[in-house]
This record gives sequence, structure tokens and C-alpha cells, in this order.
Amino acid sequence: MPPILTFIPPGEARAFSIPKGGLIRIINSEGNQVVDTWAFNSSSPSEFLSMAHSRSALYRLYFEPGDTLVSNRFRPMLTINKDTSPGYHDTLHAACSAESNRYYGAEHQYPNCQDNLKTIMHSREVSLQTTPCPWNLFERAIVLPDGTLKDEPSLAMTGDYLELSAEVDLVLVCSACPSLIGNISSGQPRGATVEIADYR
Ligand SMILES: [Zn+2]
Repeated sequence: MPPILTFIPPGEARAFSIPKGGLIRIINSEGNQVVDTWAFNSSSPSEFLSMAHSRSALYRLYFEPGDTLVSNRFRPMLTINKDTSPGYHDTLHAACSAESNRYYGAEHQYPNCQDNLKTIMHSREVSLQTTPCPWNLFERAIVLPDGTLKDEPSLAMTGDYLELSAEVDLVLVCSACPSLIGNISSGQPRGATVEIADYR
């Protein structure tokens, strides 16, 4: 099966069914775009990729090639094969939402990554009771020595990508974050591309 490329416009999300062993490239096709990313076990969506469990499993705040990220049940979900970006992929920030936009005083409530996730999972007949912390690909949130969290614009260049392999049959959701708070996408968000390949 040839790879399938899907462009995600800024502020929109797409979901992908990935079989175990499937390869995923999340490509910063337009540059500087933060991509909120979630993964759910296809057969049991209450099991999902967990940033907290992955940080505990790997003993780091940021993940790198060779790392296998785990679910909220400490089971392997995704392995990082390759990363051509500068390697900043935040694991700490909540997804942007109508509530967070209000909290930070932003004028525009919609679209947002949390609603994108809920809507797209609902279309797959999965009703989420809570929003897992996303893996914020290409987001450069720095932890300073005093523990302060600081947002910096994404350094991802056009064409940079992260290649992942699925450790279970899973549903991957990627949202091209529209947020302007913290200037995380270095100006106007532009969208991203996801490439799916099944080389089993
Ligand atoms: Zn967002």
C-alpha cells in the first residue's frame, strides 16, 4: 500500500486508524506548526497515550528517537523512530480549549484542539469524558531552572518530521493547533501533513 498523505488545515484535526506496526510521519509541511497529538487503543479507547505515564516510564520531560511512549496502563503505544526537527515536543501543556482561551483572555474561542478532538472521536462513536494531555509536537515550551514554564515559537522548519511506529492497533488524532497564545506556532498557524504507511 503506498503511503497516504493528508493535509490538516490550521485549526482542524484528522483521525487515522493505524494498525500495529504501521508507520506515521507527522510532517511540519508549512513550518513552525504545533500539532496536538493523541492516540487511543482501537479496541478500548479508555486506554490512551499518556504524557504523565510516558514521563514516568522514560524518566524525561521530552521524548527522543528510540523512546517508546506508553498508555495510561503503562503499555507501549508509540515508538519514535526518527525526528528531523530540532526535537522540541512539549509534554506539559493542556490542549487549547474554549475554557483556556477564556482563561488567557483570548478573543476567539473557536476552533480549538480540545473541541476538535471531542468532535472527531464523537464521529467515531467514542464519547470522551475527559481530554488526555496531548503530545504537543513541535511545541517549544522550555522549563527554566527555577521550574518556570516558558513558551517559545516553534523552531520546526518546513519539511521537518517525526516518524512513529504504532505498538498496538490505535486511533491517532492530530490537530493543527490554531492557538496564538504564547506565539507557539511562530505567527499564523499554517497547517501540517500526516503520512501513513503500512509496511507489515
Ligand atoms: Zn491547540
